[in-house]
Amino acid sequence: MLVNVKVRYRYRFYPTPEQSRILTNVFGASRFVYNWALRQRTDAYQVGKRMNYNGSSAALTVLKKQPDYAWLNDVSSVPTQQSLRHLQTAFKNFFEKRSAYPSFKRKHDKQSAEYTRSAFTWNAMNKNLCVAQLGRLDIRWCRAFTSYPTTVTITKSPSGKYFVTLVLDESKDPFPKTGQSIGIDLGVLRLATLSNGETIPNPKHLNRYQTKLAHEQRNLSRKKKGSHRYEFQRVKIARLHERIANTRQDHLHKVTTDLVRRFDIICMEDLHVRGMVRNHHLARSLSDAALGEFSTMVGYKCQWYGKEQRLVDRFYPSSKRCNDCGHIVKELSLSVRSWVCPECGAIHDRDENASKNILAAGQAVTARRATIRPKRITVRKGKSR
Ligand SMILES: [Zn+2]
Repeated sequence: MLVNVKVRYRYRFYPTPEQSRILTNVFGASRFVYNWALRQRTDAYQVGKRMNYNGSSAALTVLKKQPDYAWLNDVSSVPTQQSLRHLQTAFKNFFEKRSAYPSFKRKHDKQSAEYTRSAFTWNAMNKNLCVAQLGRLDIRWCRAFTSYPTTVTITKSPSGKYFVTLVLDESKDPFPKTGQSIGIDLGVLRLATLSNGETIPNPKHLNRYQTKLAHEQRNLSRKKKGSHRYEFQRVKIARLHERIANTRQDHLHKVTTDLVRRFDIICMEDLHVRGMVRNHHLARSLSDAALGEFSTMVGYKCQWYGKEQRLVDRFYPSSKRCNDCGHIVKELSLSVRSWVCPECGAIHDRDENASKNILAAGQAVTARRATIRPKRITVRKGKSR
C-alpha cells in the first residue's frame, strides 16, 4: 500500500542582481512582520490575553496603511502573510509544550520567504519556476520530481548562498517488514548505540571541523564588530557551520534510512526540546541539535515506510538501571563509560545498557497500530523498582 507523504526538495539557485535586491526586501519584510507580530502577541500574553493568527492578520492590514510602514506594500503580500502563519505554528508548539517560546529572527541568521500556490507557477515541460515579483529563477536542478509543488520557500544562508525548497506530495512504497525491534541510545561521543550491541560513530572529519570552528570563533571575538575583517570572518564561520551541518545531515540520512529499513519498531529517548538546556559548549550544542534531527528523521521515515517509532520519556532512568536485574544505581556520572551492577554483578557498557532499557520500556507498551504521528510514551519513574 502506498503512503502519501510531503517531501522537501532543496536546490541551489543564482539570483540576478535585481532578484537579490528584491529578495533582500522580501526577507526584511518577512522578518519584520514576524518580529512585530511576536512582540504584539508577547505584550498581549503578558497581560493575560491571547492573540491569534486572525488578530495579527487584521493588525497587519492596519499597519500597512500607515505611511511609516508603506514599504511593506512594496513586496508580495504572500511571504509576510506566511510569516504570521509560521508564528502561529510556533505559538501552537509552545502552548502544546513541544517547543520553547518563539524567539525573534535576526538579520544574520538564515533568511527565508515562503510562497504559496497563488504566488508562483511551475512549468514542468521547460523546468520553469516563476515566483511573484522575481520572475524565473536560475535553479540547478539536481533531482527530478513529478508532482506540482505546494509551496516554494526561498532561503539565503548566513554565508550568502541562495536555495529554493519545494514541498511536494509523493507516494512512498513501505519497506518490507522484518519483525525486528531495536532500542537506540543517542550520545555525544558516539552518535548512537543500539541494543544489539552495534555502535554508530559520528561522521568522519567532524571533530576536525569542530576544532577549526572553535578556533575561528576565537578569531572573530578579537575583531572589531562591523569592520571589514569582522564581516569576512563571520562569513568564514558561517561556511564552516554549513559544512558541519551538511556532513552531519548526509550521515544522519544514511544512518536513519538504514535503521528504518532494518527494524519495524524503533525505541528511543524523547529528546524534548524544552528539556534541552541551552548549552554554551560548542561541540555539545551542535551535537544536541543533531540528536534532535536524528529523532525527527527516524520519525518521519517511519511514517513514510510503514514502520513505528516509540518515544520513551527522557526522565526514565535508562542509564542508571541495570538491564539484567532492574536495580537502579543512585549515582552514575557522565564520565563513567562502563560499570558493574552492585546487585547482580553484571558488567555494563553505559550506552548499550541504556539502549537495552529504552527497548524494554518501548516494548512494555502494548503494541499499537502504526500511528500517524509518533506518540509520546510516558514510563513512570521508578516503575521497575
Ligand atoms: Zn544488576
